[in-house]
Amino acid sequence: MRPQLIDLHTHSNASDGTESPTELVKKAKEARLSALALTDHDTIAGLPEAMRASRELNLEFIPGCEIAAASEFGEIHLLGLWVAQDNAELNQALEKMLFARSKRNKAIVEKLQDLGINLDYAELEKLVTGESVGRPHIAKALQDLGVVESQHEAFAKYLGRKSPAYVARELPSPEHGIRLLRNAGATVSWAHPMLSRAPKEWIMNTLDTLVLAGLDAIEAYHSEHSAEDSRFCVDLAAKHGLALSGGSDYHGREKTGIALGTGKGGLRVALWVLEKLKQRRLKQGLPV
Ligand code: AMP
Ligand code: ZN
Ligand code: FE
Ligand code: FE
Repeated sequence: MRPQLIDLHTHSNASDGTESPTELVKKAKEARLSALALTDHDTIAGLPEAMRASRELNLEFIPGCEIAAASEFGEIHLLGLWVAQDNAELNQALEKMLFARSKRNKAIVEKLQDLGINLDYAELEKLVTGESVGRPHIAKALQDLGVVESQHEAFAKYLGRKSPAYVARELPSPEHGIRLLRNAGATVSWAHPMLSRAPKEWIMNTLDTLVLAGLDAIEAYHSEHSAEDSRFCVDLAAKHGLALSGGSDYHGREKTGIALGTGKGGLRVALWVLEKLKQRRLKQGLPV
């Protein structure tokens, strides 16, 4: 029998993905996934459309979002799965994050202008399809201007954390981020913990604080995780009594080499991952 596979980490054009929520759901159906979560950066604006499309196509859908928190090794990303869309505290916090993004984007454009690049903030806004604007949009603008040839080059030369046009944005603490998502009824997973390439000791210490703050799961399966990375995460989760999550972090056509469901080719997130997350929620008295 064909194994049943899922994808619990994807982005649409409500943030920095290139496909609409409907296109994403269609693609998940074509890929014969058994369930899909939409987890746009700092916004839940794509969820109603995705829910409608998945109802029509009879695909199990988990409403989610991905937020970032500050740490000494750069950003910690948190996935909220089964997030409520009508939670006033979360909606207010997301508004604040979007405002911090636009402030940061303006500062990045100014830095690029100082570097002699003729990019106008209004030009950038023309590329924006949703409400959450990120560095990938700026990377696209730089490509359109012919300043760089790829998104990768844009991050390496200008936008990456150690590059000259990098600007940090205001972020909540991990504890605050977890509390916001939990208060909105979400199951919270630490997204791609191995992506920061931080020392393993730091990851373990950080996990202790995240667990105290109410973390539910670790995203062990991710496009950028090696088999060894996944194993490390699975062991850590077992040690702390946490659930697992997994997803491709699909961003659509622009982010080449990462496919919905299968990531760089080898990703497989089995349906039991979702079933275990649901069991955890049921024990917590939360709806699934
Ligand atoms: P932002 O949310 O504005 O901080 O931008 C972060 C997003 O940019 C990530 O979610 C990725 O989609 C993308 N990204 C981050 N680093 C790179 C990179 N080195 N090359 C290409 N895309 C990247
Ligand atoms: Zn992204
Ligand atoms: Fe992320
Ligand atoms: Fe992501």
